[in-house]
Amino acid sequence: MELILLGPPGSGKGTQAARLAGELHIVHVSTGDLFRRHLKEGTALGQLARRYMDEGTLVPDDVTEAMVKERLTARDAQRGYILDGFPRNLAQAEHFQGFLYEVGRALSAVIYLAVPHDVLVERLTGRRVCPGCGANYHVRFHPPQRAGVCDVCQTPLVQRPDDREETVLTRLQVYDRETAPLIDFYRRLHLVREFDGQAPVEVVTAAILESLGARHD
Ligand code: AMP
Repeated sequence: MELILLGPPGSGKGTQAARLAGELHIVHVSTGDLFRRHLKEGTALGQLARRYMDEGTLVPDDVTEAMVKERLTARDAQRGYILDGFPRNLAQAEHFQGFLYEVGRALSAVIYLAVPHDVLVERLTGRRVCPGCGANYHVRFHPPQRAGVCDVCQTPLVQRPDDREETVLTRLQVYDRETAPLIDFYRRLHLVREFDGQAPVEVVTAAILESLGARHD
């Protein structure tokens, strides 16, 4: 199964992608996470991506596409994958259609999580992540048991640099300009299934699984 998860930053893509990947036994491929790993490991790709990530703009297409291609041709992705954060503009979407054609695969569906902008700003600026295990929290909507500390591994939580308000506003503008047109691109291919990203996490997951014809245990 080949899935794309589309939606603005803060719509819950990462959370839903991780849950769906677990339920469907496919890999979760987040380009944001791949870039952050390169950044942490100090690779040449990480050095290159840093400037764009810090300002909330897109890393150049050729760099991103090469990284995605490498990830999707790995053995563990052959059963299927859910893409989170890619494609992010029309050029990437068209390039990706070419890749699918080359490898003889087709997209199963494009899952679109709709959330209004005012809600997104609050969700993103309040988000906190655990640098230890990657767990996500929110200062208001999903606080840890002990303020500022991860429930799972007790590591102090941090705010992603690009979740600061100024950068969040840039990211939302980039989404409107570059990524939102993909909804129509995939609608023309009859692939889009839209869900209310403001519903509770479990409700959204269950609705997506049902629409994909997958049972929710
Ligand atoms: P995310 O975690 O998906 O919000 O991504 C964090 C940052 O990584 C973005 O603001 C971009 O700078 C970069 N990034 C992630 N995915 C892409 C992509 N498909 N194309 C270009 N840049 C990306």
